[in-house]
Amino acid sequence: MARLIIMGPPGSGKGTQAEYIARHFGVPAISTGELFRAHVRDGTELGAEAGRYMDHGEFVPDHVTTAMLRGRLENNDAGAGFLLDGYPRTVAQIGALDELLAARQQALEVVLALTVSNDELVERMLRRAREQGRSDDTEAVIQRRLELYRDETQPVIMAYSQRGILLTVDGSGDRDAVTASAIAAARSRLADG
Ligand code: AMP
Repeated sequence: MARLIIMGPPGSGKGTQAEYIARHFGVPAISTGELFRAHVRDGTELGAEAGRYMDHGEFVPDHVTTAMLRGRLENNDAGAGFLLDGYPRTVAQIGALDELLAARQQALEVVLALTVSNDELVERMLRRAREQGRSDDTEAVIQRRLELYRDETQPVIMAYSQRGILLTVDGSGDRDAVTASAIAAARSRLADG
């Protein structure tokens, strides 16, 4: 079973790609952003706390995010494999994930990183804001999210690159083509892909 991570800047289409790639490998796509949005929609206490950060493009504190992910990974569907979307986003979260997986005697197999130019990202996010009305898609918030990605999440990509499990995929252009190259890249690394 595949244990994968997909990374990419806000607006890179990683959420959509995650769904298709996860379906291909028969594992659940687990998006911490989606989990938070579900809590916000359901009006839970966690949603109220997370929403305060999300609306400003800030990261939700690591301990809150990691506790939520731990709970989600305990679901049966994630027993053998999963595709994480949006976690880890900080170097501290890498360590937290390592601990979670070590306790399950599991290892990560592949980290996919989608690359998209900055101009295309901003344009895509503004379009998404019009179409989906996400409260964290205003221009100031978008800039903040891109800045955090560069400062906090790029080092995560570097760390996985040093571990030798990073695969970079060109995320610009046709959605189906991006999905196909991401799947091909991941399969080349997965024993039973
Ligand atoms: P996303 O849908 O992945 O773009 O996530 C939306 C928002 O949820 C982010 O801008 C953060 O506020 C929050 N979030 C999602 N994942 C994490 C994470 N791993 N660490 C901290 N905050 C997160």
